[in-house]
Amino acid sequence: MPQYGYSTNNDDSLPVIQDCSNYQLIGLTSNVKEEIKYAMNYTPLQTYVCQKNNWTPDTFQLTDWSSFARYFKSIPMAKRIKVSKLIHDWQNTGAQKERFARSHNRKEPWNEDEYQAISQCPMQCGESEIPPHYLYCKNNLKPDETTRCIRSIERWMKKSGTHKPLIPILIKAMTNWLANGKLTIKWKFAHDEDHEGITQALTEQQQIGWHHFFKGRISKTWTEIQQREYSRQSQHRIDTNDVPLPKHYSSNWWAANLIKQVVFMSLNLRQIRNDALHSDKVMNEYNTQHRSLLTQVVTWYDRMHEFENEDSKYLHRPYLERITDPNHSLQAWCISIERIHTMNAHIREITNARDIRSSFT
Ligand SMILES: [Zn+2]
Repeated sequence: MPQYGYSTNNDDSLPVIQDCSNYQLIGLTSNVKEEIKYAMNYTPLQTYVCQKNNWTPDTFQLTDWSSFARYFKSIPMAKRIKVSKLIHDWQNTGAQKERFARSHNRKEPWNEDEYQAISQCPMQCGESEIPPHYLYCKNNLKPDETTRCIRSIERWMKKSGTHKPLIPILIKAMTNWLANGKLTIKWKFAHDEDHEGITQALTEQQQIGWHHFFKGRISKTWTEIQQREYSRQSQHRIDTNDVPLPKHYSSNWWAANLIKQVVFMSLNLRQIRNDALHSDKVMNEYNTQHRSLLTQVVTWYDRMHEFENEDSKYLHRPYLERITDPNHSLQAWCISIERIHTMNAHIREITNARDIRSSFT
């Protein structure tokens, strides 16, 4: 069983990184399921998370930890560390640099302007950079990428049988929050059989905090709404003698995948901020190739409509998942998809030619 104590480094009060697991609620290494059960019932840990986030114990219980655990278990170790840094606000920021600078004893103390300068957002919007700032920074250097991420999540939701009214609500909420770091929507939506559930989920997510949604801390009520939807779909298929729903369809699977997409989006947007910070540095060969491959991947996903239905399996993996692949996988996929695209173009040419010939006979 893990030890839930934590040590601190000398410079600030942040727990050191090897103790991520303690506050992650899930261990980085061993049996995630067991650890989360343990963590959920470990009072000092809940107290820490509640204090850090200004949550009441009730708010803590509103969060779907079980689906988060399922997602966390599915990702490799290197990614777990990145995600831990995201969810605990341990990513490096201007505000953190400023705190660090102020804690230093200097022979010649800095003036306020110097502290202000170090805390600035690297995308140069003029604001001090606090942890989730890069998600809604007005100077986002690639606003198209935010839109692409949101569309990727929307496509995934449609494909996985998500309760129809949930899709526009979640997409609208995410888009609205990403525009300014708060939710400003006055909800008016058509009444459907789950509208009470949706109102409850929105209220609970507000209580948890929408910025936590982008860390994968979602209200359990979203998951419960989806469970009701899968039950409905399943019953409908029985009633109509249709093939059953895929076996892996469950609300826990759905929520874990939603969390996965949303967290990948946050990490992707973080990378844009990092690129702005390091824009003057020379990239190594791998990163240069990676950037070039990502540009190709973006192009293919944007041209998805040019492919035939039978090719959809090549674009089945959501964009947000594809871009987390290493260079060799990205390269192999880019080569395949380009060949398929070329082949389709040839087939179309030949088919059109036949059509013209047949019109003369
Ligand atoms: Zn900014």
